Amino acid sequence: MLRRPNGVPVPHDYRSVDTVSQPVHQAQPRIFLVGRPGAGKGTQGARLAQRLDVQYVSTGDLLRKAIEARTPLGTAIEKVINSGNLLPAELIISLVESCIEGDSYVLDGFPRTVAQAVAITSQASNSPPIAIEIAIPTNVALDRLTHRGRSDDDITIARRRLVVYETETVPMLNYLQSCGLLHRIDGDAPADIVEQTIWQRVSVVLSSSHPEPAVTMPEQHHSHADSASLFGAVAAG
Ligand code: ADP
Repeated sequence: MLRRPNGVPVPHDYRSVDTVSQPVHQAQPRIFLVGRPGAGKGTQGARLAQRLDVQYVSTGDLLRKAIEARTPLGTAIEKVINSGNLLPAELIISLVESCIEGDSYVLDGFPRTVAQAVAITSQASNSPPIAIEIAIPTNVALDRLTHRGRSDDDITIARRRLVVYETETVPMLNYLQSCGLLHRIDGDAPADIVEQTIWQRVSVVLSSSHPEPAVTMPEQHHSHADSASLFGAVAAG
């Protein structure tokens, strides 16, 4: 079992995973897809959810739907997204919480900050979540974004989103890594290759993780409001 520097055990250790392909038997896969804007989370998330036959939730899609509804909230969301910044934690957490239908899912775009990760990994579950980082270099991200044509893909906004990724999301990757939950995949390859690589990794992890009694992550102390929430188990911290 992994231990943090402070000696707190981390629930699962994937370092000893057998790389021989085995049948997938984890009952309730919970997958987080993380990566720079333009990494391909949407494409890969939908494919992975289909393979696993679980719900696919994209925070970006949910937010864009809210914008299309032209409500005052949608207009406020649009303003934040088009500034390249992140939405307030409380809003995004309750949005995700209200959309998740069961114990299995592929989440694209959430968590994106340490506080969001603490909130969702604190959900009681009989199996640990799997975080997949689809890694692409910044220059590839910028190149892809400027050819994609979404309103928040304007070069200035795209640059801002990449900065926010470094300041907000990279620390979260370090957190997930320290928990033994992070798997890094090379995303700078054709989509079908990336899909295969993700599927191989997910299959190995799922077939090597056995259902256990409910797992909650160690208590965390931090200043963000959003972990004091909504996914239930954190509130006590
Ligand atoms: P990309 O993957 O290209 O960064 P998304 O479609 O996932 O784009 O998200 C678009 C925007 O929606 C983000 O730049 C951010 O403003 C907002 N957003 C999405 N997910 C979150 C989140 N978990 N927390 C805060 N803001 C978010």
